[in-house]
Amino acid sequence: MAWDFSTDPDFQKKLDWMDTFVREEIEPIGLVWDKSTDPFDVRNKTTSALVKPLQAQVKQRGLWACHLTPDLGGQGYGQVKLALMNEILGRSQWASRVFGTQAPDTGNAEIIAHYGTAEQKTQYLQPLLNGEMVSCYSMTEPHAGSDPGQFRCRAWQEGSDWILDGEKYYSSHADFAEFIIVMAITDPDVPVHRGATMFLVPRATPGVEILRNVGLIGDPTDEPGSHGWVRYNKVRLNADAVLGEPGKAFEMAQKRLGGGRIHHAMRTVAYCKKALDMMCERSLSRQTQGSLLSEKQSVQNYIADSFMQLEQFRLLVLYAAWWCDQGDPRKSRMYISAVKVQAAEVLHDIVRRAVQVHGGLGCSNETPLASLWMTVPLMGVMDGPSEVHRVTVAKQVLRGHKASDDPLWPNEWLPAKREAARDKFARQLENSVGNL
Ligand SMILES: Cc1cc2nc3c(=O)[nH]c(=O)nc-3n(C[C@H](O)[C@H](O)[C@H](O)COP(=O)(O)OP(=O)(O)OC[C@H]3O[C@@H](n4cnc5c(N)ncnc54)[C@H](O)[C@@H]3O)c2cc1C
Repeated sequence: MAWDFSTDPDFQKKLDWMDTFVREEIEPIGLVWDKSTDPFDVRNKTTSALVKPLQAQVKQRGLWACHLTPDLGGQGYGQVKLALMNEILGRSQWASRVFGTQAPDTGNAEIIAHYGTAEQKTQYLQPLLNGEMVSCYSMTEPHAGSDPGQFRCRAWQEGSDWILDGEKYYSSHADFAEFIIVMAITDPDVPVHRGATMFLVPRATPGVEILRNVGLIGDPTDEPGSHGWVRYNKVRLNADAVLGEPGKAFEMAQKRLGGGRIHHAMRTVAYCKKALDMMCERSLSRQTQGSLLSEKQSVQNYIADSFMQLEQFRLLVLYAAWWCDQGDPRKSRMYISAVKVQAAEVLHDIVRRAVQVHGGLGCSNETPLASLWMTVPLMGVMDGPSEVHRVTVAKQVLRGHKASDDPLWPNEWLPAKREAARDKFARQLENSVGNL
């Protein structure tokens, strides 16, 4: 009977070290280099100089890029261990760079490791795993994200070369990435799930043009953001640029997006914990109308509701991670979608209460709650909108059920069944009365 909520003591020691390291060495970076400095922008020499010695410590401890399996050059920790690690790393945006687990590089490394040729691995994977370069994933288009059937970015062959043409939107880190994984339609005559191909495109390739660097909600509008609106102007690529097999892009994308989604959910546990900690600290410190906030029943409700939501969410994330480790693709997909939906909902509820308990300070830009609140809408959209993930969950739940024999009645309450049960009990009663 294995149904255990404890952590292996050896691994707990690693988590304890990570916890102290993130609190003492990494979180303070965010106090000085605020939201307007992208932690992943490798062009920033000052922050890169700060991050490198920290990365060296992580590598020395064997905690670098733990998302890959040993056959792919990683630690093989599996998703449950990664979930426990990400609960700590999520406390600071800088932590995923220091531990080599930042999106979209994690997912990109995974697909290159699975589908790349030996040359592609040498050129892209190894430097990516070493933290020497940043990558980008370019799938969403300006007019279509969750409906790939509307994708227009095309690639076709000219001799042995490929020509890539079209626009992509929200290609995170495109501007400072060394290379971009681009999904393009290569066979428009078949459904998109069979007619799209992935290409490895060096950022410096002639014809790759950033039309705009889109910023996120809450970012200053007069400064460039880090999500590229990219135009591929008949970009010429050689045959080696194809990643995996032509036509298999969607199959490959599932592999990368699954990991990405669950890692976001894992880090959301950390965001929620941070908001709850702040709510508790504030309510134990602030007096209004003769008592501490922590003594007011409505604030106690906020704290209790937040604790219960967070605990439920955390267990669901760990359960989803466990299903991934069991290697059951259907269950994994369902639970990953479930935690993806829950991440946005739970983060919204807990951060909203934390902001409320902080009053005017909570509405200011002077606490981490400001950026946590701005993260809420992103969680419901990135890696696919919540509505689409709900459909995935519902379809899987429905697979375990069948329609009632008579649409007027639930199967258990069919009149014939009730009649039969009544007859059976009447006979039993008659017999037992007769035996008295
Ligand atoms: C912070 C962030 C980072 C991102 N990074 C990347 C990246 O690196 N690379 C990349 O390629 N993309 C990236 N994206 C894009 C992201 O994947 C898309 O925004 C997402 O898939 C939704 O696509 P869309 O924006 O075109 O919305 P649409 O597809 O237009 O959907 C808009 C809304 O319509 C509703 N909707 C859509 N479909 C359904 C449905 N079936 N049922 C009910 N309602 C529905 C939902 O409310 C949805 O939010 C990023 C997005 C964000 C916010």
